[in-house]
Amino acid sequence: MQIRSSIHRGARDDSHAHPAAGRGVVIGREVDVLSGQIGEVGARSAAGRFPSPNPLFAGCPSLFLQTACATRHLSAAAALVAVEETGLLLTLNPRMKDRIKELRRVVSECRVTIAAAAPADASAQPVRAEIVVLADANRYAGKNRAVATATGSNLDPAWVAVQRELGLSAALTDSPYVPAEKQTALAAVLDEARALGPDVVAVLPLHLDWLKKDVASLIAEINKAAVPVALVLEHDNDPLGVQDAVAGLVRLLAEAEVKIALLRCDISVIGAVAFGASLGAVGTTTALRHLYPTKEKGGGFNGGARIGIYVPRSMAYRALDTLNTAIALDQEHQERWICGCHRCFNRPLSHIHDEVAAYQHSLTAIAELGQNILDASSPLHRQHAWVGQCNHAQVTNMEIAAETGLNWDPPKFQGAWHKLAPSLPPLS
Ligand SMILES: [Zn+2]
Repeated sequence: MQIRSSIHRGARDDSHAHPAAGRGVVIGREVDVLSGQIGEVGARSAAGRFPSPNPLFAGCPSLFLQTACATRHLSAAAALVAVEETGLLLTLNPRMKDRIKELRRVVSECRVTIAAAAPADASAQPVRAEIVVLADANRYAGKNRAVATATGSNLDPAWVAVQRELGLSAALTDSPYVPAEKQTALAAVLDEARALGPDVVAVLPLHLDWLKKDVASLIAEINKAAVPVALVLEHDNDPLGVQDAVAGLVRLLAEAEVKIALLRCDISVIGAVAFGASLGAVGTTTALRHLYPTKEKGGGFNGGARIGIYVPRSMAYRALDTLNTAIALDQEHQERWICGCHRCFNRPLSHIHDEVAAYQHSLTAIAELGQNILDASSPLHRQHAWVGQCNHAQVTNMEIAAETGLNWDPPKFQGAWHKLAPSLPPLS
């Protein structure tokens, strides 16, 4: 089969008011229905700066930015990915009544922004000329989230149809949340996804116990359904700060017979790709960097979370106000707080004051880290580079804590990934 693909970065598309008629670039793709693997037929590479070692489909990059779709978020995010050459994952508001109409609106806005970000002179275009755009219906989040049932009708075929109509690179299902131990509900979601067609990726918003305690069942169901999967992991803070969850993810990546993506995450996407994931999506805000559990009072979408900013030396997100306190206290090591990313130009991180500037810097700096690690020469070199980087960051964070007196503990994901080091074969 063929499917119309991503939004053309350089296309000066006059038809953007009618996204269904907008210019998608045709990439030939075929899907082996038996294996669930998405392959390619004569597709040209569009992955550019972030080629995936195990791409979800031809030309799909390994790193995505995951953004909400309010106009003020969307235009900044689309312009950012056009420069950084990551993919863009659009995340709809779960309270939106007409998701299909909303997706048409946001894809239209993306086309305008991405076209405007391209150089006017087509000859100045680099080899890569496309931005891969995917869409997350986000029905699994919030207080009134949808929950998977064993009896079926978990997925809406119209949601898949509109993604095809809009020319998105693959169609992600509008999956409900899958609670722990609900194996028949998990199987129902996967079976429904497979029935929707070979270009469909099953989104699996999971209770973390699936990775911590029941990964063998999860792997068995995924391999039985033979449909590509995009994971969303639920946790109060950082799902991949839990050692058993990291171990479960690594086992899943090793034993899955289909492509696995990781959505709604943070720096750990680099580790996931190093260990075999097709792609990882870094959220623009704290609420989009993992799935919050629902709670009787409060919790849920956590729209009021403090602004998080990526601190390169710590290899971690920190609250912006905490970061500024650390900078003020650490007079003897001001070099620690200078960022060399191409948005900061060797300025101190204290120059960043708002959420948009924070995630523009954060994605840029994380992309540079990801490029350094994922450019390593083999899967094993990538894995060693990632766990080594986690260990280095742990030590740096402990030094900062000791020297500033602040609560600056290493984030748990660094220890969780570094604990894999003894199990890795040595580099020859
Ligand atoms: Zn920066």
